[in-house]
Amino acid sequence: MLKFEQYVRPDTPQEAFDLLQENRLATIIGGMMWLRLSDRTIPVGIDLSGCGLNTIEETDGAFIIGAMVTLGQLENHEAFKQMTRGVFTDGVHDIIGTQFRNLATVGGSAYARMGFSDIVTALLPLDTWCEFTGAGTMRFADFVNGGAARDVLERIVVKKHDYRASFQCLRNSATDFSTLNVCAALWENEWHLAVGARPKKAKFLEGDDLALPVGFTNEQLAAACENARYLNYGTDRRGSAEYRAELAELLSRRAIQAAAAQSSVEEELARAAEANKPRGISQ
Ligand SMILES: Cc1cc2nc3c(=O)[nH]c(=O)nc-3n(C[C@H](O)[C@H](O)[C@H](O)COP(=O)(O)OP(=O)(O)OC[C@H]3O[C@@H](n4cnc5c(N)ncnc54)[C@H](O)[C@@H]3O)c2cc1C
Repeated sequence: MLKFEQYVRPDTPQEAFDLLQENRLATIIGGMMWLRLSDRTIPVGIDLSGCGLNTIEETDGAFIIGAMVTLGQLENHEAFKQMTRGVFTDGVHDIIGTQFRNLATVGGSAYARMGFSDIVTALLPLDTWCEFTGAGTMRFADFVNGGAARDVLERIVVKKHDYRASFQCLRNSATDFSTLNVCAALWENEWHLAVGARPKKAKFLEGDDLALPVGFTNEQLAAACENARYLNYGTDRRGSAEYRAELAELLSRRAIQAAAAQSSVEEELARAAEANKPRGISQ
């Protein structure tokens, strides 16, 4: 059972950060859905729910997502979903159930960088940044690779672009962890690809590592998807390393093709409006 010797609910992320530095074993509490599974005694539990980090703000250039925003809040945010082509919504869709997703937080999910995470994979190929009290601002991909030491994650910032994107995963059964997950995104004339649940932490490919031009040929697509095959996979009870390598190639191809087939958000909205127009009754 998880026990706290002391529980604190600071008013600001800075207070939370100071408390975290004061005690080596102090622990930040997000939605506590993962934390509560552990069997240990934590001397100081620092609950971020009073720090005002539970809002999604849309500015001209970005969506600014507080660390305490729940998965449910973000998956149902229409403007964010539209811009990101639903990759976050698709990524979290099969995580346990609605009640669970209304408690688990985006910050707790991003900070923990779990190997099986669908959330990390969905956010990685977007233009995503994280803001920490302590370590400052860094690209999400750098945080996933390198991490931040005992910092408070305040916000996730997803910059606005005309994204084409798609999330794909395979689960052996509904609500199980993904056996493998992939998210592809095209923005600023460059493709970005994340492959997670390998079952280790997600890997991220872009630029020369992915080598996929915007208007790719079939051969270039095949070569890029083959790159995903060699990302070093592991074996667990959900699948062997060989099976995951096959899946990575297949799901990468599906994700890239699905994203490449999308038109701009404006075109899709105009098409939907046209389809919904009331029609006169023909004689
Ligand atoms: C049974 C179960 C099944 C799941 N299945 C899936 C799945 O299929 N796919 C998937 O992607 N995820 C899955 N998850 C993970 C889930 O989606 C959340 O990512 C997870 O619960 C963490 O979010 P939380 O808000 O509960 O964080 P918490 O449990 O509160 O915290 C997790 C860790 O992050 C730290 N932390 C939290 N917030 C911050 C912050 N703002 N700054 C710094 N550190 C912080 C905590 O100290 C802790 O170490 C599952 C979880 C459970 C319990």
